[in-house]
Amino acid sequence: MLSPYAALAQKTSPVAPNRAQAEAIVKEAYAKFVSDTSGKNADYIPFLAQVDSKMFGVAIVTVDNQVLSMGEIKYAFSIQSISKVYTLAMAMNELGADRVFDRIGSEPTGRAFNSPVAVVDMPTHTANPLVNAGAIATTSLIAGSSADDKWNKILDFYGEAAGEKLSLIDEVYQSEAATNAGNKALSMLLAKYERIYSDPFTAVDIYTKQCSVGVNVVQLARMGATLANNGVNPTTGKQVVKAENVPYILSTMMMAGLYDGSGGWAWKVGLPAKSGVGGGIVAVVPGKGAIAVFSPRLDDAGNSVKAQRVIEYVAQKLDFNLFSPRSVGLKQ
Ligand code: GLU
Repeated sequence: MLSPYAALAQKTSPVAPNRAQAEAIVKEAYAKFVSDTSGKNADYIPFLAQVDSKMFGVAIVTVDNQVLSMGEIKYAFSIQSISKVYTLAMAMNELGADRVFDRIGSEPTGRAFNSPVAVVDMPTHTANPLVNAGAIATTSLIAGSSADDKWNKILDFYGEAAGEKLSLIDEVYQSEAATNAGNKALSMLLAKYERIYSDPFTAVDIYTKQCSVGVNVVQLARMGATLANNGVNPTTGKQVVKAENVPYILSTMMMAGLYDGSGGWAWKVGLPAKSGVGGGIVAVVPGKGAIAVFSPRLDDAGNSVKAQRVIEYVAQKLDFNLFSPRSVGLKQ
């Protein structure tokens, strides 16, 4: 039986593709880009430089809980920056959208995701929850009786969005914790402007852990599908993200989800998405589902090259661009 949300999605999206169409297009995209070797692994986090750059996996999870997947679907890569979306969702669940907006904001920086200059220059200092400074400040908003309590809450919340328990990849965490002086510097700058809401280094440590959570590409697609499905995980049926917060989260992803490539992405693909330097990207098609791709080679902005190409191809062929009249049901 279809969930009420899936039924609603079908009603409001008469041009949603059927499974056979979606499968054919994903296969085409996979074959077209499988041998593309452009870009290179992130290396500023030493562990990521050693990840096998040939790995390539694609998954789609729909709001009616259909799963399509191809390629490397078992490997748990580090979620990295994609975690920022779910800590944001959690902070909004706890505090409401307005309070999170007041404390963090939602403006693009036009600078690198880890830029200290943006912290100094931006009137809000935090800029938005998807750049490092804003994300560390967002993590600092999560309530808890101790650092461990906050961290365990975050990990459990990600697991609820993924539909399965997730774990920390300790090697990634150690590698990143040993090299995160830049993020610590951001947290101290935020402290100077009174825009961080717990002990700064504790927030950075929890943030570093959240970036080191392992997900496979199917789990990542399900995390995206939870947002597509009004905050309800389509597999477990559980309301994970409060429905009223979903549009704020998706608009933030549209504006800042792909670092300095966000404008070009909005132009070409027209879908809210988030990338991580671990090589994952998840794009959300509201009311329909989500597509996630994992491939470690990144472009200069820090976005997986293959993931961008596959999602762009699939979104174009299946009319997913939110700004296209066809995607909301006005067929030509
Ligand atoms: N943990 C990474 C950092 O703080 C996340 C970067 C990313 O995926 O953008 O630099």
